[in-house]
Amino acid sequence: MHAATILAQLDHVADPVTGALVPAIQPGVTHRRSGDGGATGYARSGNSGAALVETILRKLEDGSAAAAFGAGAAAAQAVLATLRPGDRVLIDTGLYYEFGRIVAAFAARFGLELQRVDLCDLDRAAQGLAAAPTRLVWAECPSNPLWRVPDIAALSQLAHRHGARLLVDATAATPVLCRPLRMGADLVLHSATKYLNGHGDLVAGVLVAARRDPLWDEIILARETHGSILPPFEAWLLLRGMRSLALRMEHVSRTAMALASWLTLQPAIRAVHYPGLPRHPQHQLAQRQFEGGFGGMLSFEMEDAAAAAAICARAEVFRHSTSLGSPESLIEHRLSTEGAGSECPPGLLRLSIGLEHHEDLREDLRQMLAAAG
Ligand code: PLP
Repeated sequence: MHAATILAQLDHVADPVTGALVPAIQPGVTHRRSGDGGATGYARSGNSGAALVETILRKLEDGSAAAAFGAGAAAAQAVLATLRPGDRVLIDTGLYYEFGRIVAAFAARFGLELQRVDLCDLDRAAQGLAAAPTRLVWAECPSNPLWRVPDIAALSQLAHRHGARLLVDATAATPVLCRPLRMGADLVLHSATKYLNGHGDLVAGVLVAARRDPLWDEIILARETHGSILPPFEAWLLLRGMRSLALRMEHVSRTAMALASWLTLQPAIRAVHYPGLPRHPQHQLAQRQFEGGFGGMLSFEMEDAAAAAAICARAEVFRHSTSLGSPESLIEHRLSTEGAGSECPPGLLRLSIGLEHHEDLREDLRQMLAAAG
């Protein structure tokens, strides 16, 4: 079945008691131990809304198991909790900056060996894996905020040859556009806070696994012991948001493509980063790895930080704000958000495309750039 159908019908949901085609919010902490209602047990291990999110994501990703969390960061912590002192982890140099910091802090505290490697460069990735036994390779497709695209099939083969597992954070792509497990990845991570929900009104995360194995059991145990389950109300909101995901990804991909092409023609702009552009360094790979569009995230570079900050200040339709995947389009100067230690190009502006008409967004960019001189 197509993703759009699974999403629109929430996997053909019907409330088991009323028959309603909308799932109920079930806030119960505890559940009957005998009879037919005892699947959940205590609410720190799950709830019916989170379970439906998991069923849908497992189907969309072609996975064997899925787990919903109270944040993308909580999903990341559950993966880190499976590592032991001395374990070696390879992370992409272009990883979402906060995850880079989270993994580095975890590694320092718990004695992991961490190596940052450009995972879009397969020779470097192979060298990193050959240097010492590695447990985990952590990639992002596309990476935030340069939207670079690693070769997931080649990376997973490399990782497996060296006994490592490959995790792919596919937050910006969503399973509508890219399915890393089909290409050989072992785990997929989503910040469901973003396009999966699409309404900018909740924080959530999801992990999907290729296999149900002891590693997966450890992830579920970590979620239970951290208490980082997706709460019932957020699960319900997320389900409501996900119904329109396929349509939204189609719309934002079309708008982002049009804006990225237009931005490349503007003389004040030094570079445009979008995997749909033919000049993007991994465009051909992206054409193979993405289905039906390249997503709603793009970035462009002005001469310096001052020019970029001035652009943001003039936004009228775009909202000057962080995050991604909301209904309203967002613009932000990444360096100011990431702060000290950021390796982001100083003049980089990140756009998260929402559901507005593309002409209004283009005219807003035009007036921002005109005012910048
Ligand atoms: N992964 C990516 C690519 C992100 O951009 C973010 C947040 O911006 C996260 C993960 C973290 O997710 P959350 O904010 O849901 O914890």
